[in-house]
Amino acid sequence: MKPKPINQLADTGKLTGGAAGFARLDREQFPEFDPGTVWLVGAGPGAPGLMTLLGYHALNQADVVVYDALVNDAILEWARPGVHMEFAGKRGGRPSAKQNDISLRLIELARQNKRVLRLKGGDPYIFGRGGEECQALARAGIAFRIVPGITSGAGGLAYAGIPITHRETNHSVLFLTGHGSDGGVPVGVNWEHVAIASPVIVMYMATRNLPEIARKLLSFGRAEDEPVAVVSNASLPDQSTYVASLADMSEGEAVKSFPTPALVVVGEVVGFHEMLDWYSEPLRENSIG
Ligand code: SAH
Repeated sequence: MKPKPINQLADTGKLTGGAAGFARLDREQFPEFDPGTVWLVGAGPGAPGLMTLLGYHALNQADVVVYDALVNDAILEWARPGVHMEFAGKRGGRPSAKQNDISLRLIELARQNKRVLRLKGGDPYIFGRGGEECQALARAGIAFRIVPGITSGAGGLAYAGIPITHRETNHSVLFLTGHGSDGGVPVGVNWEHVAIASPVIVMYMATRNLPEIARKLLSFGRAEDEPVAVVSNASLPDQSTYVASLADMSEGEAVKSFPTPALVVVGEVVGFHEMLDWYSEPLRENSIG
């Protein structure tokens, strides 16, 4: 069946009347955020407008929000009045909450019959430990819901004019973390396989170890002149993109100055940045994204 044009939707009851924006969405159609349950919500890469409608809905219902460091403050301000906010992450030198403590805290809050919103940067299941938190909830018998988010390694890079797939350059993309549990290059990554597995590699948490990673990729056959982009603060007003060759990145000089958070992209898609870099200065003045 062909979708109806938007101006006919009103007749079907799918849109309620009223003013612009959220007022036009029928709240009845949103799932109920039941007390005693936990919603793991992805806040997107940074720009507040990149959070989903379900995420926004959850913020309007939650009794308590347990949020990570990378969640934009502007999003936190959308929480309903009287909500209890709890920080669970590393920021500004404050000590980092241990993963197990966070899971236990979510369970404790749910058992107090609260609507618990666990808010994470990007997508909760992509290098966000959302899987671990859900396992803990499942073991404790607590009902949960996942509200996926736009991951920085896809949507964030789009703000830097880098489409992570393009028919001219690649049929696959590989996501990896460049940060092992000890802070070094992750030992579980088979770099020889990674080097040949995909024309495009998107790396999270990789700037600190970038020179070493670049040397590994070169030693397993990636070309010295292959372009690499480091995109910092993607989708935010202070977004910046630095492009250099894999050989240059292996030297390590530039690496020291990258603002964080930052993504690293290796591959020919980096070449599209120059032509497709649409997130210009005037656009950055928009507060939503
Ligand atoms: N779950 C998140 C990733 C968490 S790991 C997601 O799906 O995006 C944290 C890493 O994500 C950072 O070290 C950085 O590599 C990346 N990241 C998150 N937000 C970013 C942003 N706005 N700009 C650049 N990198 C970002």
